[in-house]
Amino acid sequence: MRQRMVAGNWKLNGSKELTRSLLAGITTGLHDDVSADVVVCPPFVYLEQAAAALADSCVKLGAQNVCAETSGAFTGEISADMLREVGCQYVIVGHSERRSLYAESDNLVARKFVAARDSGLTPILCVGETLNERERGVTEQVIARQLQEVISLAGAETVASAVIAYEPVWAIGSGLTATPDQAQAVHAFMRERLRDSGAKADACCMLYGGSVKPSNAAELFSMPDIDGGLIGGASLVVGDFLAICRAA
Ligand code: 13P
Repeated sequence: MRQRMVAGNWKLNGSKELTRSLLAGITTGLHDDVSADVVVCPPFVYLEQAAAALADSCVKLGAQNVCAETSGAFTGEISADMLREVGCQYVIVGHSERRSLYAESDNLVARKFVAARDSGLTPILCVGETLNERERGVTEQVIARQLQEVISLAGAETVASAVIAYEPVWAIGSGLTATPDQAQAVHAFMRERLRDSGAKADACCMLYGGSVKPSNAAELFSMPDIDGGLIGGASLVVGDFLAICRAA
């Protein structure tokens, strides 16, 4: 049985007070009925506060981005070692908002993946197609290309030991969710690509992301290749996030 996971991506949301209240709500609300790993990814500046708030809990900490470089003249960047030092175990790389709004290429995403791994962080590698790509019927080509760059740089086994999140761009923040069958088909495809590349793909934890809510989480997570979710909007509402954790 693969480990299941629910990760909350807070994106550009939060304050000291929201960090305090969300984490207090999540840590007191998590009980034995949640067997999935639970991860929260607040903005950088709240990571240290979050690490302190999570010190006595099983909730793990992740960041939303990382620099591909380790140190030096890279103004405004944050290294993987810095994230480790403040208590992160995970980092999201290649989120579609980074790819589209900040022009992160497949190669840069792959280098960030390697930097995270080299520091002992577990990357949560995001891949996903746009609506236009889905309508053109090139979803699998896009996912294969995004995965291949990371496999080439990091090696298939290293990719399989990370977490991969399938996030169709058209489902993010749109209220449109991929159907369980649509999501399952891409997850199965990703597992097949890893297997074809020589990795132990059955062990790889794969998440679905894109308008996951308490009302659709259980059905999505019941699919054979979907091991949990990467949650945006609903991760900012304690009751919704806990309900999604329970569904995983
Ligand atoms: P939503 O859950 O708000 O659609 O966001 C998904 C996402 O981008 C998580 O990384």
